[in-house]
Amino acid sequence: MNIVILLGAPGSGKGTLAAELAKVPGIAHLSTGDLLRGAVKAGTPAGVEAKGYMESGNLVPDALIARMVGDYLEQNAKLSTVLLDGFPRNVPQAEILAELLQKTGVTLRCALLLDVPDDVVVRRISGRRVCPKCGAGFNVDTLPPKQDGICDVCGAELVVRKDDTPETVRHRLEVYAGQTFPLIAYYKERGMLRVVDGSGDALAPKVEAALKELHD
Ligand code: AMP
Repeated sequence: MNIVILLGAPGSGKGTLAAELAKVPGIAHLSTGDLLRGAVKAGTPAGVEAKGYMESGNLVPDALIARMVGDYLEQNAKLSTVLLDGFPRNVPQAEILAELLQKTGVTLRCALLLDVPDDVVVRRISGRRVCPKCGAGFNVDTLPPKQDGICDVCGAELVVRKDDTPETVRHRLEVYAGQTFPLIAYYKERGMLRVVDGSGDALAPKVEAALKELHD
């Protein structure tokens, strides 16, 4: 198994990009945010522990998220590539991941940074809408549903994620700057960082080219 870490601010397009790349068989998208939201919805012990941190835009404890990611990798060992979206989120988590990969013989191919200016990020997040029933994502500016406020996939009424409100978004960007930004230096020092300009629309071809370069 290969791992590609997706780095970038909330709203930089990691989720949209990963969903696109994961259409290829054998490639999977692991979003720790989605994994946690699923756990909260299902009311599992991990979900109960995570709920308060998530609603206030803070990070859940490292040990909790490391356990969830470790379980996922173990249960999906047959996949050829896993795109990690949202993990690691800080340097201690990067060290936990390095240990986990060493133990399981999984290869880290690169950390791919989607570079997007803050104002674009804020604009994108404020347009974001999700379906509470099936999880499909939309954006009123860039990916509007066919019918205003209604999910194209299952017909449920779309909502704004609890942590996509302007105050929480500002706080999440601060958490990103303080905790996740140092990861860029961490992977750069190790020669693992690749940077892609994430401000335009069609990202997947740019990323595919960057990943292909790694193979050649
Ligand atoms: P996201 O969907 O990636 O923006 O994540 C939503 C929320 O889930 C974050 O604001 C955190 O509360 C939590 N979360 C997701 N991934 C992690 C992680 N690797 N470490 C700690 N908290 C996380």
